[in-house]
Amino acid sequence: MSDLTARFAEIVGSHNVLTGDAIPEDYWHDEVLTTAPQRPAYVAKPATAEEVSQLLKAASENKVPVTARGSGSGLSGAAIPRADGLVISFERMNAVLEVDTTNQVAVVQPGVTLTELDAATMDAGLNYMVQPGELSSSVGGNVGTNAGGMRAVKYGIARHNVLGLQAVLPTGEIIRTGGKIAKVSTGYDLTQLIVGSEGTLALATEVIVKLYPRLEHAATVLAPFADFDQVMEAVPRVLASGLAPYILEYIDNMTMAALVHTQNLELGVPDQVRDSCQAYLVVALENRTAERLDEDVERAGELVVELGAVDAYVLEGLSARKLIEAREKAFWTAKAIGADDIIDTVVPRSAMPKFLAGARGLAAEAGGAAAGCGHAGDGNVHLAIICKDPQKKKKLMTDIFALAMELGGAISGEHGLGRAKTPYFLQLEDAVKVDLMRRIKQSFDPAGILNPDVLFGET
Ligand SMILES: Cc1cc2nc3c(=O)[nH]c(=O)nc-3n(C[C@H](O)[C@H](O)[C@H](O)COP(=O)(O)OP(=O)(O)OC[C@H]3O[C@@H](n4cnc5c(N)ncnc54)[C@H](O)[C@@H]3O)c2cc1C
Repeated sequence: MSDLTARFAEIVGSHNVLTGDAIPEDYWHDEVLTTAPQRPAYVAKPATAEEVSQLLKAASENKVPVTARGSGSGLSGAAIPRADGLVISFERMNAVLEVDTTNQVAVVQPGVTLTELDAATMDAGLNYMVQPGELSSSVGGNVGTNAGGMRAVKYGIARHNVLGLQAVLPTGEIIRTGGKIAKVSTGYDLTQLIVGSEGTLALATEVIVKLYPRLEHAATVLAPFADFDQVMEAVPRVLASGLAPYILEYIDNMTMAALVHTQNLELGVPDQVRDSCQAYLVVALENRTAERLDEDVERAGELVVELGAVDAYVLEGLSARKLIEAREKAFWTAKAIGADDIIDTVVPRSAMPKFLAGARGLAAEAGGAAAGCGHAGDGNVHLAIICKDPQKKKKLMTDIFALAMELGGAISGEHGLGRAKTPYFLQLEDAVKVDLMRRIKQSFDPAGILNPDVLFGET
């Protein structure tokens, strides 16, 4: 046993340290399509913040790169470790410490999965509303990526739902930021600096998340449109209607056909409507009472038809759930049909028609294709990119990201940069901002051990 392995074993117990061939493949990767898995030198599974602190001190002293790992469902390669690195896996720190109904918050350890948190908050009639498509993802991972998901259009992203943290700095100090409080105006907001930092600044060991009441009655209006631009133009009008959808997604016809086929969906849309439409709008509504919901559903149906939909189909219960679940699984469908890359670019809502037309045009010029769906209410476009030639694909991705940025958007709306999108970020982002971020990183992590390949590239 090496000295370092012995030190890690002293901290977390020898049965919670893995090295070499004993490290299962799960720890080598996340779900990114494009970055090769990498076996780390060590995996350690701490049970307390104090153990995380000691691991980080040992890693800092020995200049060992550290990658935090929640559930490994990330889509950007941010949880892929270095070959000489340490993975700190939060799987043992998976307790829901408190569900506080007065302050409407939960205090959880980072390894808690969204499925576990859903179960823990059920009896209180509350819920954590950040729901990326993968419910096996962890709260710590949501903090790392600033996760979004379909409900962000109503409830916001992780950044809006994480009120406070206990976090361990790479130098080993344990800090608390924010709290069970609705607002704070006391210096820099360290909570928000850590949220979305992809494990490059500090590791979250406790998270205070906002909870919302569960509204019992829900239904989904599915609206096929013959014209793609009309779908995008309908989005702001639906949002301005006061119906407050908790999901507002678009799905293009190619993607819907693939979802229907792979997920055996029965949507009740007649063949001639399906064949003539270019895209669908999915408007999910919820309310406290069935009567109020019915009223909203009726109005939503009328509205989408006024805005150009061929028709409006109301899905309730199982069929609504199946459509939403199929949409959540769109990534697996894209993977199954051989997508070469994925994009989760965000643009202002008003720029979505221009961005989508531009991205599809660029893909066609490169001899490839771009199809997908997205969190239309947030301007967050998810495209599966088909382009087999690696050089052409790199140029295509660069051109699509540059277009999004020209339109006032950003490379990633919710998946983060990870190893996969960092090169594009370094190429396209304002160098002054990148340098400022580098200096922030330096103050948190002087030894540069936390996820060194993410955000700033290989060092
Ligand atoms: C089918 C599918 C659908 C998806 N849909 C969505 C979606 O709609 N919206 C969305 O936002 N994402 C989506 N994702 C991506 C993924 O689920 C989210 O990025 C999620 O937040 C990752 O959580 P995780 O626990 O798997 O994190 P991991 O992949 O393990 O890690 C993600 C990042 O967080 C860091 N991290 C992990 N734990 C900590 C910690 N305790 N402290 C600090 N940093 C930490 C890691 O180092 C890494 O940088 C989807 C993924 C799949 C497979």
